[in-house]
Amino acid sequence: MKERIELWFKLLMVLTVLVCGRAAYAQPELETFLPPGVDHIVIKAEYLADEAGAFSIGDIASNNVQGQWQPVLEDYANFGYRHYPYWYRFIISNAGTKAADQVIELKYPLLDSIDYYRFADNELIEHIHTGDRVPFEQRPVRHPYFMFPIHLEAGERNEIYLRIQTAGSQLVPLNLWEKIPLFVELLEEDQLHAVYFGIVLVIVFFNLLIFVALRERVYLYYAISTLLFMTFFAIMRAKLYPVIFSETPEFHHLLLLLLPGSCLLFSALFTREFLSVRLYSRYLNYLVNGIVLVSLGCIALVFVLDSQASLKLSVLCAIPGTFILLLLGPTLAMMGNPIAWVYTLAWGTFMFGTTVTAMSKQGFLPVSFITEYGMQIGSALEVFILNAALAYRFYREHEDKVAAQEAQLKEHAERREAELKLLDSSMLHPVTMMPNRHCFERQIQEVLGEREGGRVAIVTIEVTRYAEINKTLGHQNTDLLMCEVAQMYNNLLTRSPGTFRIIGPSFESWLCSLDNDSFGFMADAEIAEAHAKDINALIKQMIQPIEFKGMRLELRPVLGVAICPEHGLNAATLLRHARVAADSSDAKERYLSYYRPELDQYNARRLTIISELKDAIQKEELDLYFQPKLDLRSRKIVGVEALIRWNHPKYGLVRPDDFIPMAEQTGIIKNLTRWVIDESLAYLQRLGECGYTINMSINVSMMNLKETDLVGFLEERLAETGLDAALLYLELTETSMMQHPHDAIGTLTKLGELGVKVSVDDFGTGYSSLAYLQDLPANEIKIDKSLIMALEHKETSESVIKSAIDMCHALGFSVVAEGVENEPVMHRLMDMDCDLIQGYFLTPPLPYTDLLEWLRDQETTQRFAS
Ligand code: C2E
Ligand code: CA
Ligand code: CA
Repeated sequence: MKERIELWFKLLMVLTVLVCGRAAYAQPELETFLPPGVDHIVIKAEYLADEAGAFSIGDIASNNVQGQWQPVLEDYANFGYRHYPYWYRFIISNAGTKAADQVIELKYPLLDSIDYYRFADNELIEHIHTGDRVPFEQRPVRHPYFMFPIHLEAGERNEIYLRIQTAGSQLVPLNLWEKIPLFVELLEEDQLHAVYFGIVLVIVFFNLLIFVALRERVYLYYAISTLLFMTFFAIMRAKLYPVIFSETPEFHHLLLLLLPGSCLLFSALFTREFLSVRLYSRYLNYLVNGIVLVSLGCIALVFVLDSQASLKLSVLCAIPGTFILLLLGPTLAMMGNPIAWVYTLAWGTFMFGTTVTAMSKQGFLPVSFITEYGMQIGSALEVFILNAALAYRFYREHEDKVAAQEAQLKEHAERREAELKLLDSSMLHPVTMMPNRHCFERQIQEVLGEREGGRVAIVTIEVTRYAEINKTLGHQNTDLLMCEVAQMYNNLLTRSPGTFRIIGPSFESWLCSLDNDSFGFMADAEIAEAHAKDINALIKQMIQPIEFKGMRLELRPVLGVAICPEHGLNAATLLRHARVAADSSDAKERYLSYYRPELDQYNARRLTIISELKDAIQKEELDLYFQPKLDLRSRKIVGVEALIRWNHPKYGLVRPDDFIPMAEQTGIIKNLTRWVIDESLAYLQRLGECGYTINMSINVSMMNLKETDLVGFLEERLAETGLDAALLYLELTETSMMQHPHDAIGTLTKLGELGVKVSVDDFGTGYSSLAYLQDLPANEIKIDKSLIMALEHKETSESVIKSAIDMCHALGFSVVAEGVENEPVMHRLMDMDCDLIQGYFLTPPLPYTDLLEWLRDQETTQRFAS
C-alpha cells in the first residue's frame, strides 16, 4: 500500500509537471546558447538549496558559496515540497553576429515568490521580484507562466540568478525561446484550452439547468464536481490568475489549497447518488460517507494548518479517496448495477489519460499530442460519457413518470367504469335488465319535481298468472319469458303518446321492472287522456297472449293507475296507490283501474297502526330478532344484527318495513331506536355472560343522527353496561347518508371518537360514488341483498360485486354481503375475497333464545368450519 501511495503521489507530481513538458534537447554546458533556426532550448542550470534561508544575492554572486552549486541533472529541477528557498544560476550567451531578443520562460505558474537577478560583467543590471503570490501587474510579461525578456548584443553574455521560494512543489522548468515562436506556441496552447474549458462549461450549465428543472441532486453534484475539476486544471495552469486573481494572489493560493478536498467531496457525493450506492450495500455507502467526511475535514484544515501541511494532507487524502471511488464502479457493476459500468468507463478514461501523460513525462512513452494532452482528453471524454449516462437517466425517469401518469389515468378510468357498472346494476332489475324499482321511484320524484302543475300518471302492470306459469315452466324459463315480455311492453311504450323515458348512465328505457311479476311506467296524464284511443289500443296489445317456445301463454296482465296530484304527491304513495288499483277487483275485470281511496284497505290499518305504535313500546309488544354474521376467513360467527319485530295483538307479526317509515315520519323513531339500543346492549351483556363475545349491529335511522344527544346517550349507556364500544356497530343506509351528508359526517365522526363502529347499509342501491364513501368515517360496507341475490341470475353481477369488494378494500372498509341464501353464493363470495356474510343460508333472524340454541348448535356441528 505504501508503494502504491508513493506511486500515486509521484503521479500527481507529474500531473503538475504536465505544464512544462515539451520536447527539447538538452545541452550539457551551463552556458545556454540558442543557435539560429532553433525555436527554443532547455536551459541547463545549477542549484543551491538555501536551507537556512540566510543567503543574500551578494553572498550568492560572490565566490563564497562556489563549492555548494550542484548541476540540475534532469531537464528541469524538481525537489518536491520544500519550505526553504532554492537558488539557480545559468548563463545566457549570444555567440552570433547580431543582437538577439530572447525570452527566458519558467513554465510552472504556481511558484509563490521569484527573484530574478541579471548580471553583466559581474554587475547587477536587472532585478525583478514576481511570483504567483505577488500582484500580476509586477510581471515583466503578463502571462500565467513567468517570462523574462532578455536583450543580448552580439557576443554578450549574461549571468542569471533565481531565488525561488514556494509552499508547493519546487518545480522549475526553464527554457530559452525566440520571441515569436514562443508567442505562437502560447497562443495555440491557449486556444486548445479555451475549447476544452468551453465544452466543459456548457456541460456544467446544462446539468445545472436540469437540476433546476428536476430538483435531483445528482445533476447538481455532477455540475459542481465537473466545475471544480475544471477550476483545478485551470488553477494548475494559472489560467484564472490573470483574469480573476491578478490583484489578489492570496485568494488564488487559497483556492488552490481548497480544491483537492472540494473535488473529492463532490466526486464522492456524485458517486453516491449516481450509483445509488445505498441500494446495493449499506457498508459501501458508509465508505462513501467516510470519504465525504474526510474531504470536509481537509477543507476545514486549510484554514487551520499552514499551506504546505494542508496541501500535503489534501493530496494524501485525495489519492486513496479517488482510488476508492474508481474501484466502486466495477464493484457495484458486479453487484448488478448496470450504470456502474458506464461510471467505470468514464473514470477509467480519465485515469488512463492521466497515466499516459504521467508515463510520457517519466520517459516511458514517446511524447506526442496524445500524451501531452492525455489528461485533458481523458477528462473531456469522462465528462461526455457521464453526461450521456445522465441524459439517459433523465430520459428513463421521464419515461417512468409518463408511464406512472398513464397508469394513474387508467386506474381512474377503470374505477369510474366499475362505479358506472355498479350504478347500473343498482338501477337495473337482475332478470329483465330493465330499470328497477329504486330507479323508477327516483325518476318519478324527478319528474314530479319538474312537473309545474301538469298531471302525471304512474302505471303498474301486474302479471297475474306469474306464479302459475312459474310453477309450470320453472324458474329459468319464466325468467326468459319475462325478459321477452319486458322487451315487448317496452317496444309498445316507445310508440305510446306521452310516455316518459327513463335514462340511466348506460341505458334508456320506457318500462321498469318493479318485481319479478310486475312492471311500471309513467306518462303525462293530459297527453294520454287526449289520446284515449291509442291507449286503449296499447292495452289491447298488452293483454294479447304471447308466443313462447311454441306455446301460447296467457299472462293476464292488469294495469293500475295513480295520478299526481289527485292520488298522491310522492313516488312511494303513487306507486303504492297504483298497485292498490291493480289489485282491485275492477282491474281484474277490465284489465285497468284508476286508484280510488275506497280501494285502499291499507289506509285504515295504517292510521290505527301509527297511534298504536306509540304505545307498543310500553305494552312490550316490540321484540328484537337477531341474525348472525359469519366471518368467511375464520369461519366463526363474529356478530349479530338486531332486527325489530312487532307482535301486534290483531295483525300478528308486523315487519319493520311496514312501520319504520311511519315511525320516522311521526318522530316515534327517537324512542324506538333508544329502546332498540337499550335492549341490544342488554342482550349483548347476556351473550357475553354465555361466553359469546361478539358484536351487535343496530339499525339507525337518519332521523336519529339529527338528535343532538344521541352520542351522549350512547356514551352513558356504554358506561353503565361497561361494554366495549367497539362491539357496537351502527348501520345507516347509503341513501340516507347521501341525502344528509353534513349531519351524517358530523355525528358519525363523534361516534367514531367514542369507539363505536359505523356500517353503510344497503350499499349499491344509492347513487353514491366510491369517492364520496372515502370521506365517510365508516368501518364496514354491507352490499345490498338485491345485488347479492342477483348473483344467481346474472353473470355480470359477479364482476360488479368483485370490483365493489376490491374498491371497498382499497378504501379500508370490511365488506359484508347480506341476503346470502345458499351455499354456492357463499363460495362465490369467498372467491371474491368478501369478508363477512349474512342471510337465510345461515339462518333467518331468530328470537334471543333460539339464537343461543343456534350458536351452541354451530359449535357442536361446526357447520361452516370447512
Ligand atoms: P336491513 O337492515 O337491510 O335488514 C336486512 C333485512 O333482510 C331483514 O329484513 C332480514 O330479515 C332480511 N334478510 C336477511 N337475510 C335475508 C336473505 O337471505 N334473503 C332475504 N330475502 N332477506 C333477508 P327485516 O327484518 O324485515 O328488516 C327490514 C328492514 O327494516 C331492515 O333492512 C332495516 O332497514 C329496517 N329495520 C329493522 N330493524 C330496525 C330497527 O330496529 N331500527 C330501524 N331504524 N330499522 C330497522
Ligand atoms: Ca341492516
Ligand atoms: Ca341491508
